[in-house]
Amino acid sequence: MPRAIIFDLDGTLTASKAALETSMGALLAKLSHQIPIAITSGASLTQFKEQVVARLPADAELQNVYLLPTSGAALYFWNGSDWQSAYQETLTEVQMAGAERAIEKAIAELKMDLPPAYGARVERRQDTQVAFSGVGQRAPIAEKQKWDPDQKKRRTMVEIIKPELPWAEVKMGGMTTIDITRKGIDKLYGATKLAERLGLTLTDLLYVGDALYPGGNDEVMLGSSAKVEAVTSLADTKKLIESLLSH
Ligand SMILES: [Mg+2]
Repeated sequence: MPRAIIFDLDGTLTASKAALETSMGALLAKLSHQIPIAITSGASLTQFKEQVVARLPADAELQNVYLLPTSGAALYFWNGSDWQSAYQETLTEVQMAGAERAIEKAIAELKMDLPPAYGARVERRQDTQVAFSGVGQRAPIAEKQKWDPDQKKRRTMVEIIKPELPWAEVKMGGMTTIDITRKGIDKLYGATKLAERLGLTLTDLLYVGDALYPGGNDEVMLGSSAKVEAVTSLADTKKLIESLLSH
């Protein structure tokens, strides 16, 4: 049994940006009474609150729930009445503006013909991350699936963006996203900070994600000393939680 568990969000606990299902919420609530659980994603804290926190059953042990939004650039814990920041790796105004310019440059250089966006296409998230979403932040899953199924569009964009931003981590996330954070800030950084906060080491942690493969947005965890468990569906994750609960 691990001492704490970190779950990826999209594709692991919920469908992409979809609300947490009641059955998954019930399982997480049960687990939260046994061990600390954390959730990580490129999403913003606001998105975490809508997508997960608001859907957790009232009996969840929030003191044992940790949120790692914006790819681990921040950690939030429940202080009894609100989500409190434990740390926040912020970008400067110059860095955020530079990231936005680099994205524009890639779009122009590749002469990309982007479809109309649902919601913002480029977003500053809590001043810790600049996120590009090919068809917009609020696009329906079907639209997202169509846009860059083989990741080619984003791969070529990343090749142009990276040299523009030597201070940054530039990574593909989700189905249509490119996430830009400070160098060294990623899901593994978040996991390391969480372990520190809990008085544990990475070897005590289990990381559960649907993209634990080369090029996947959980890949960074593969090279760490944390245990990892790859899932391929929400049903898979539920089975895993059930088996953990029966220990
Ligand atoms: Mg995922």
